[in-house]
Amino acid sequence: MNGPSWFEAGARLAVLTAEPIGRPLDYLAPEGGCFTGAFVEVPLGPRKVMGVVWGPGDGRFDAAKLRPVIRVLDVAPMRDELREFLIRMGAYTMTSLPAMLRLATRTPGLFDAPGMRKVYRLGDRLPERMTEAREKVLGVLHDHGGAGFYLNELAQLAGVTPQVVKGLAQAGAIIEAEVPRDAPYPRLDPTLPGKALSDDQETGAKALRAGAGRYGTYLLKGVTGSGKTEVYLEAVAECLRQGRQALVLLPEIALTSEFLTRVEARFGARPGEWHSGATQSERRRLWKMCGEGGVQLVVGARSALFLPFRDLGLIVVDEEHDTSYKQEEGALYSARDMAVLRASLCGAQVVLASATPSLESWVNAEQGKYTRVDLKSRFGASELPEMAAIDMRKERIEAAHWISPRLVGEVLQRIRNGEQAMLFLNRRGYAPVTICRACGHQIGCDHCDARMVEHRFLKRLVCHQCGETKPIPTECPSCKAEGRLAPVGPGVERLAEEVAERFPDARLAVLSSDLFGSARALKDAIGTIAEGGADIIIGTQIVAKGHNFPKLTLVGVIDADLGLQGSDLRAAERTFQLMRQVAGRAGRAEKPGVALLQTYQPEHPVIRAILGGDEEAFWREEAEARRAQGVPPYGRMAGIILSGPEVEPLFQIGSELARRAEPLTRIGAQLFGPAPAPIARVRGRHRVRMLVKADKTAPLQAALKAWVRQVKLPNAVRLQIDIDPQSF
Ligand code: ADP
Ligand code: ZN
Repeated sequence: MNGPSWFEAGARLAVLTAEPIGRPLDYLAPEGGCFTGAFVEVPLGPRKVMGVVWGPGDGRFDAAKLRPVIRVLDVAPMRDELREFLIRMGAYTMTSLPAMLRLATRTPGLFDAPGMRKVYRLGDRLPERMTEAREKVLGVLHDHGGAGFYLNELAQLAGVTPQVVKGLAQAGAIIEAEVPRDAPYPRLDPTLPGKALSDDQETGAKALRAGAGRYGTYLLKGVTGSGKTEVYLEAVAECLRQGRQALVLLPEIALTSEFLTRVEARFGARPGEWHSGATQSERRRLWKMCGEGGVQLVVGARSALFLPFRDLGLIVVDEEHDTSYKQEEGALYSARDMAVLRASLCGAQVVLASATPSLESWVNAEQGKYTRVDLKSRFGASELPEMAAIDMRKERIEAAHWISPRLVGEVLQRIRNGEQAMLFLNRRGYAPVTICRACGHQIGCDHCDARMVEHRFLKRLVCHQCGETKPIPTECPSCKAEGRLAPVGPGVERLAEEVAERFPDARLAVLSSDLFGSARALKDAIGTIAEGGADIIIGTQIVAKGHNFPKLTLVGVIDADLGLQGSDLRAAERTFQLMRQVAGRAGRAEKPGVALLQTYQPEHPVIRAILGGDEEAFWREEAEARRAQGVPPYGRMAGIILSGPEVEPLFQIGSELARRAEPLTRIGAQLFGPAPAPIARVRGRHRVRMLVKADKTAPLQAALKAWVRQVKLPNAVRLQIDIDPQSF
């Protein structure tokens, strides 16, 4: 990281590329020189690739043999802070530097020449001749509105040829526009007055403002509806007033237009948006404007953490406990933890917001590493929902039905009052198991260690692990009996059937991620519900998060015990968070809400804690249990996943690693496994996992590196290291 920040023409320098080479390569600085951090194009064999000037070359190579950089790209150089972040995060997560660079430069077209560009937008008339292909194009434009698409991007999204798009432009149904490539975003005005805050909120906002402009982590804890968003927007305002940039991270699913509209109302202009639904051109513009300071506030999903901000002063991680912050493919990292790392490097404040923080953050606050800011009550008149259990052992319920008579009665009452009721079941599809009534065979996935889930809506069986689908067979694949296959257990689709049967006059809305073709369609459905366009809402996990349904006064949890099975040490924490989040949907406006949990074990300690026991006591007990086991956040863990087409070699390699555990034992670490991974087979690949547990201060990464280096992996076998695994 040290060394000159300017290289004269012809000086030796090292360039990091995103190619899987492992280390920066040496080149000569181009005509006119370049800065450290400059984005450059370099020759690599016969190809040209993009790279970042990483520092001085190491002098090992004969200068006469080095090739010069081809050109310096017209974007802001990568700042030291971001380079340092990629290095440190790479070291922590044991991800190679090129892979880290890929995370930071993944947007296609990032380095195309600047200037004007042509985009296609929706026009105001329909073409005389409508075809299916044309409809698709107009559909995409209609769904996205705003910014417009590049020709090829639009064609690809619509699944048509570019000619179709051009034809529509000729017919005047869509507009071709020349726009400056990467214009700055409209200015946000942080001096606009926010909402008048309650005393509680004002105290919180004051605490956050006091820490603005420098590194420090705040845990903003407050029940759903307490106004956490209002409070952290005050921290954003303070950051913007100081002239620095702010980033708000949200779980992808919570990135709704409702949220953006709220930010717009607060600051008078829309922030930059970064998520998988954003168009290429929007992402490119945002990436560049981050570097040039042409955007003050970015609202984004986890990968926004790698944007090249010019001067990042604040990172908010909303719903910080959300499991979707953990990236589970490619580079394995926790966006929440990495946000804290990045903030420490650029001198930014961090605000972690949640109604049900992760145990890790709770402990960090207990230990004084994070500053805790509590919002104790809901804002205004709205009250926290009353929570109670429905003891399913005492309810009389027909076979293949899941809604208890008591819950039915409660729902009916809400409908009569013109209110909404929500039934929550954290299981997608129609039925989790399809069983043959003749031989007992259960239909499984051909590629994974999972049962196929029937989806009536799709009319197929679906594997929830790998996404594989197949038609629902009429005969049993095992005993060939005809017509004996039967669904067992409920999924949301089956629950919807029961609801339709019991409440024939009610308007239903089913919210499950796979019932919607696009994020936009889901957002629309959520908007409709918020406006009162449904009486009963049936949903999976996606309804638990962040949505605001003012007419909702009853939440019924169909199976509160669902998450408590299994041996995962996080099961209690997860169930507690999920149940509290779901319950928090009820009674957000003037009317009080009720949450009813159907359970077969009402005396289970987790169920009791959820039902309004002493929350802090629950966290203390959880923390104590973790401490006793020496697991995070009191100890360190790493998962080692071996995957390959055959299971036997994986166990062999695992056993060999276990025999050569000396590098681990030397740091006092313990090794568990090899054992089948929690997900033992995915997409035809078997997975075997080992777990390493070490003291908080042990040099875990170095030991892991020395340890795994000892065995040579066959080509078909892949070894992945997961620092701080989600389940243990
Ligand atoms: P949380 O993020 O804690 O769930 P929100 O910030 O979304 O809570 O606030 C819940 C609701 O209360 C929102 O509709 C919000 O607009 C409203 N609200 C919160 N604080 C205020 C305030 N000070 N003045 C007016 N409305 C507020
Ligand atoms: Zn599968």
